[in-house]
Amino acid sequence: MDKINKNDLLKLLTSLKDKNKLIAPVKAEKDIVFDYVNDVKDIVLDFTNTVKPAKEFFIPQREDILEFNNGKIKAIFSDEKRVFFGIRPCDLKGLCVMDPTFREGIEDPHYLEKRKNTVIIALACTTLCDENAFCESAKAGPVADGCFDLQLIPLGKNEYFVENGSKAGADIIDKNKQLFKKADKSDIKKMEDTKNKKINKKKVDLDLFLEKLKGRFNNKAYWKEASLTCLRCGACNYLCPSCFCNNMVDNTKKRYRCWDSCMFRGFTRQAANLIPRDELYTRFRQRLYHKYKWHKERYGVHMCTGCGRCVTYCPGLIPYIDIINEVSNSNGE
Ligand code: SF4
Ligand code: SF4
Repeated sequence: MDKINKNDLLKLLTSLKDKNKLIAPVKAEKDIVFDYVNDVKDIVLDFTNTVKPAKEFFIPQREDILEFNNGKIKAIFSDEKRVFFGIRPCDLKGLCVMDPTFREGIEDPHYLEKRKNTVIIALACTTLCDENAFCESAKAGPVADGCFDLQLIPLGKNEYFVENGSKAGADIIDKNKQLFKKADKSDIKKMEDTKNKKINKKKVDLDLFLEKLKGRFNNKAYWKEASLTCLRCGACNYLCPSCFCNNMVDNTKKRYRCWDSCMFRGFTRQAANLIPRDELYTRFRQRLYHKYKWHKERYGVHMCTGCGRCVTYCPGLIPYIDIINEVSNSNGE
């Protein structure tokens, strides 16, 4: 088992940057965001979480996917090799939760190529990032239990325990042996303490919620009341690390796709302007049922990693955590 100190970590990232594009947390005015990095000195190591999740590097907000030229159609792919450093466990789980959607049935090569070409070095959390986070209940954090190539677990201010999760991760350690040191018994104890530490203030029971949702679907009065202050802005989808719905648009030169939101009225618009989820409450209900029931029933995982962003940044002050707890504690009607 290995550990690495901060200086050596920056040396490691510098060396990885020589052969790959490096994505890492950097400062952008008052916020911390993920971006491509040219100088590792710009990387922020001490941060809670980014406002925007990591998903935009795998499903960009707008992405050209086909090119039309004189009757010929060409697919557009990016084959750049990347190292993504600093992704938090909730955003990492967001990718794992999305993966089967893009893998099963008709594969989505645009997403899968980016996943294949990106080595992920996750950064575990030791402090609460958001009052509304419930990553422990969602089994996503504060320390990831898989889906990474390497995971760094802080051992105090200047050192990290290094967990290896794949061959790509093992290769990084092997090729940069001089930067890693052996973790001793006290390091292992600190790492285990971090894994066992509870830091969330909010708790939910997502399995109970799923159970109770079954009978709540047709309670129109409940969903109307719950969605009353929703502004249909879509922030809860755009800022969610596991929401992936997108829209396809063709022009004369290109086909591109861009993020969409199930909260938008036009999301299900069909020919002759038929909109099956025309009323807001049906779209509001859809978001919750997709996340907590249908995705779980189809793929075995909830489509929520408990990051808390949909509560913290909702301009309509929709209390999603209270909704989950209220329905869970109800008689399910
Ligand atoms: S962020 Fe809030 S207001 Fe905006 S669509 Fe979602 S629930 Fe509605
Ligand atoms: S549904 Fe809300 S809490 Fe869950 S992952 Fe998405 S933004 Fe985070």
